[in-house]
Amino acid sequence: MKSVPFLDIHAGYVELRKEIDDAISSVLNGGSYILGDEVRRFELGWAEYCDVGYCLGVGNGYDALYLALLAAGVGEGDEVLVPSNTFIATWMAVHSVGATIVPVEPDPRTHVIDAGAVAPLISRRTRAIIPVHLYGHPVDLDPIRELAQNRSIVIIEDAAQAHGAKYRGSRIGGDSDMVAWSFYPGKNLGAFGDAGAVTTNSQEYASKLEYLRNYGSVAKYSSVFPGVNSRLDEVQAAVLSVKLRCLDDWNSRRAFVAENYTNVIQESATSGSVKKSSPRNLDASVKITSWPTVATWAESAWHLYVVRTTNRLGLAEFFHSAGISTGIHYPIPPHRQEAFKAFASRSLPIADELSRSVVSLPIGPHLSKGQMARVSEALAAIPIET
Ligand SMILES: *Cc1c(COP(=O)(O)O)cnc(C)c1O
Repeated sequence: MKSVPFLDIHAGYVELRKEIDDAISSVLNGGSYILGDEVRRFELGWAEYCDVGYCLGVGNGYDALYLALLAAGVGEGDEVLVPSNTFIATWMAVHSVGATIVPVEPDPRTHVIDAGAVAPLISRRTRAIIPVHLYGHPVDLDPIRELAQNRSIVIIEDAAQAHGAKYRGSRIGGDSDMVAWSFYPGKNLGAFGDAGAVTTNSQEYASKLEYLRNYGSVAKYSSVFPGVNSRLDEVQAAVLSVKLRCLDDWNSRRAFVAENYTNVIQESATSGSVKKSSPRNLDASVKITSWPTVATWAESAWHLYVVRTTNRLGLAEFFHSAGISTGIHYPIPPHRQEAFKAFASRSLPIADELSRSVVSLPIGPHLSKGQMARVSEALAAIPIET
């Protein structure tokens, strides 16, 4: 039997082959390849989808964060609050503008930060907070916004995993000072290469970003301040416009899979002791200790479906023997990375604990019903211990 891949990105192309091929070939024939009509069309489409005033296409998700920090004037001497458990890009962007990284421990149940953990870390130097909607689950933003108000603290959301997620009924992307997006191929909305964007309602930030992404130029060969090259190209923008039409459908397929897994786990959790004996290839120490919950304010984009376990190697081996690929997001927290040695002595026990125990199950929009059933069957055999 063919194994169940963790994520089948190619299947997204196969589903839309004709439209994508046409869109790409029309760009190639059009003769304009960077920051042209297709980029503008996607920017308008993404702004409309997020219900926000402005969208600026950039080279990738890291650049979106980096340029948003630059546009906000964050730099040396400033402190920026970031989650202790996130993809390394969030930390790197802060590092790159010369600001000081202040790690915030997440709520171990939702894996995202909350105002309670943010408040005690705010100082006179705090200039920005970067909430990350990790795994597609929105952060509770309102209480964090309340903390930021009147303190001239900028909120830049890292929404790289949250395309289409909703916070209190509104799509992520429209309500903070700036929201950074990645369209890396594996994201819920993914290009066939690198791509990113920043959305904002501020005309001032929008025009700064427009300059910053293109050498600080207001017009060709006229730079008003130092910028970078982080331009979105026409091919990626055209692909993104095609895929955007499927985003809601693909996200609802993800939600369907998530609901299925959660039902299986909850059923095991309640039937508890009457459980049939464990399969032979499942180590007795393997238990699932937590699974995703969705907060009352949240509609998740289900970028990832992450459970925690007592024995990750054992769990991965069991899935592997059932022909199912799993992932780990993320195995090494930023403060344990060689790149951030200076943070090695920080006590961030929640990030450490999560990095040791998390496992991601296959949840892509192109997971077939049969594949989902195979994952569910394997999942049903694993004891739950909360
Ligand atoms: C993917 C991702 C990024 C970076 O995006 P790239 O396009 O790969 O640079 C940033 N933050 C988070 C949370 C991500 O998942």
